[in-house]
Amino acid sequence: MIPGETDLWFLPLGGTGEIGMNMNLYGHDGEWLMVDCGVTFEKARYDAETGKRIKRPDVQMADPAFIAEQADRLCGLVITHAHEDHVGAVPYLWPRLKCPVYTTKFTAMVLRRKLAEFNLTDEVPIHIIDPDATNNESLAIGPFNLKWVPLTHSIPEPYALYITTVVGSVFHTADWKLDPRPVIGKPYRPEHYQAVGEIGVTAMVCDSTNATELGHSRSEGALFTGLADHVFAAQGRVVIACFGSNVARLQTIARVAEATGRYFGVIGRSMQNMSDCAKACHVVDDTFRPIDARHLGFLPRHEVLGVATGSQGEPRAALRRLATGRHPAMELEEGDTVIFSSKVIPGNEPDFELLIELLTSMKVHVITDASSEKPIHASGHPASKELAQMYDWIKPQHAIPVHGEHRHMLANANIAKKSGVPRQTVGKNGDLYFIAPYPGIRRNAVATGRLGWQHQQLVSMTEFDDNSSKGQRNDYGRTV
Ligand SMILES: [Zn+2]
Ligand SMILES: [Zn+2]
Repeated sequence: MIPGETDLWFLPLGGTGEIGMNMNLYGHDGEWLMVDCGVTFEKARYDAETGKRIKRPDVQMADPAFIAEQADRLCGLVITHAHEDHVGAVPYLWPRLKCPVYTTKFTAMVLRRKLAEFNLTDEVPIHIIDPDATNNESLAIGPFNLKWVPLTHSIPEPYALYITTVVGSVFHTADWKLDPRPVIGKPYRPEHYQAVGEIGVTAMVCDSTNATELGHSRSEGALFTGLADHVFAAQGRVVIACFGSNVARLQTIARVAEATGRYFGVIGRSMQNMSDCAKACHVVDDTFRPIDARHLGFLPRHEVLGVATGSQGEPRAALRRLATGRHPAMELEEGDTVIFSSKVIPGNEPDFELLIELLTSMKVHVITDASSEKPIHASGHPASKELAQMYDWIKPQHAIPVHGEHRHMLANANIAKKSGVPRQTVGKNGDLYFIAPYPGIRRNAVATGRLGWQHQQLVSMTEFDDNSSKGQRNDYGRTV
């Protein structure tokens, strides 16, 4: 299956029909371009009989077999932004791809730290793209021409890609929202998207995460007041839990620390990495002065503002360890406050509820987005009005929803239809979408699968899934 010179194809191997582990391929004129190479994290599964957690590899990613077998046809890998579901699998899979990597400065720094852990720093050729410095001239990668189009999201340097070929073009949005006050980076500017729409777009491949949400996503800039009010009102130590990669939230929390006279410290390795990269790339302001987390434990309680990973209740993350008195940096006690600046991802409820129980049994005051009257969390993805607005600016001929479960992608396709996009195609990983010369889809064109990282090697997840579906008892517990 090789794309010809009149073809423009889209082939997702991961991230379409699910949220996480994005891996997209574009095919044209005998070559393939990969966009993003991310991981997904295993949601907790419990044995129905014993109630014990079933052990499976935590880190999983799309199986790249289809492209790895023809890696000589892969002209490059573009990483849109530094979230784990877009960049996280590069250290695991690059040895099978061996292609040049293109990304912006901040994402490159995050990636290099990951590669260093795998002794791959000197192996992987990373080309740093600076759309501002080059006046955003287009870059040729194989038979594709790429332009980076700035958007807003919860992390520095989020970009959509405008991919053109002689036979058709794609606006690949990656993750985005329309945020007038994104805290990190510049507000969105309609003229960027209007300009792309005027040149013309054959297909728009678009984020569907929040397509079922009505209205407009909350601005990141709206969270400062709510968080600061809760921290002002708190008597003892305060720990705010959020996603480790949400750099915009870390910046907001740094400002809250400054406004409330507390010292801010980052607890959790993934968050520490993000915080270091954000400082080194100067994407945060001078309120961003985290102290060493190990010093938090020595401060008077009212001066402590910790930010911790583990908002989903993950057993090994910082917050769970704080909730069980097993974290070396500091301890929590009666009268302290934990604020969840996050939402629970479906499937994580059991771990999350256990965490809340542990905290409340310590008489720690718990504030969640649901219990707070003031806004303390914002999603980084577009709701229905933002999607409609983007379709109106880009005016694609063909809408291809991705980055969502089937229901999210259907909702996205409906919005596209109502916005006047002539054609919408909803598919899943392994389906081959035709963009040019004619729109269409060939279902199940390519075999897909998942790999898991276990005992320092990649293993096929089919083995785990087969064992559970057959209901056999194995090392990993019975099927749930
Ligand atoms: Zn994503
Ligand atoms: Zn993202």
